Amino acid sequence: MNSIAANLELIRSQVPASVRIVAVSKTKSPDDIMTAYNSGQRMFGENRVQELLGKVVNLPGDIQWHMLGHLQTNKVKQIIQFVSLIQSVDSVKLLQVINSESEKTGRTTGCLLQIHIASEETKYGFSFDEVRALLDSDMHKSFRNVRIRGLMGMATFTDNADQVRAEFRSLAQEFRDLKQKYFSDDPDFNELSMGMSGDYRIAIEEGSTMVRIGSLIFGDRNFKK
Ligand SMILES: *Cc1c(COP(=O)(O)O)cnc(C)c1O
Repeated sequence: MNSIAANLELIRSQVPASVRIVAVSKTKSPDDIMTAYNSGQRMFGENRVQELLGKVVNLPGDIQWHMLGHLQTNKVKQIIQFVSLIQSVDSVKLLQVINSESEKTGRTTGCLLQIHIASEETKYGFSFDEVRALLDSDMHKSFRNVRIRGLMGMATFTDNADQVRAEFRSLAQEFRDLKQKYFSDDPDFNELSMGMSGDYRIAIEEGSTMVRIGSLIFGDRNFKK
């Protein structure tokens, strides 16, 4: 068995069946993606618009593409018909544009609100206060062509497992609180995307429903992005 398939098999054996695995294929070739596809993988994550567009056209139509990276509003139009979930919604403006572009093409786009939980300054995302302000405003309810499916967050890049666990735990708590307060009658708000190659086990212990795994499946990327 080739190593990508073997890696996937190993990860699947360690992840509960209720947790979805997104194979993060950024920087990886269509051949690598096909290897994963042929071993049954259907959800793939990309973080750059051009790269996603280049891959979409050459790969099977039943792949579910997830956008994971910061998305500029002026690029939404290009990807809207190809993505099944945008995990990196980090502003009200972006949600608004996703809604209007979805409406134009007669679709409803699944979105996760990205929450900033890491101590690093550079990562995008809403704070807990900002996401509550958005949900309190009820503005999202007028967005008929987006479906808010849950939250996504990235822990601090650190060896300190206690810190990572505390960050995931606070996000999971926020997820439950928001679900109860704003989505109690909405069964679609059910995804908590947290956990990457280095921290997915902790994330699952803390309640993740979706892990985003790149290097552990495909090997190291040549450069970090
Ligand atoms: C690159 C990336 C991942 C995967 O990272 P690995 O450490 O290779 O598993 C997950 N989530 C996001 C948002 C990413 O940009």
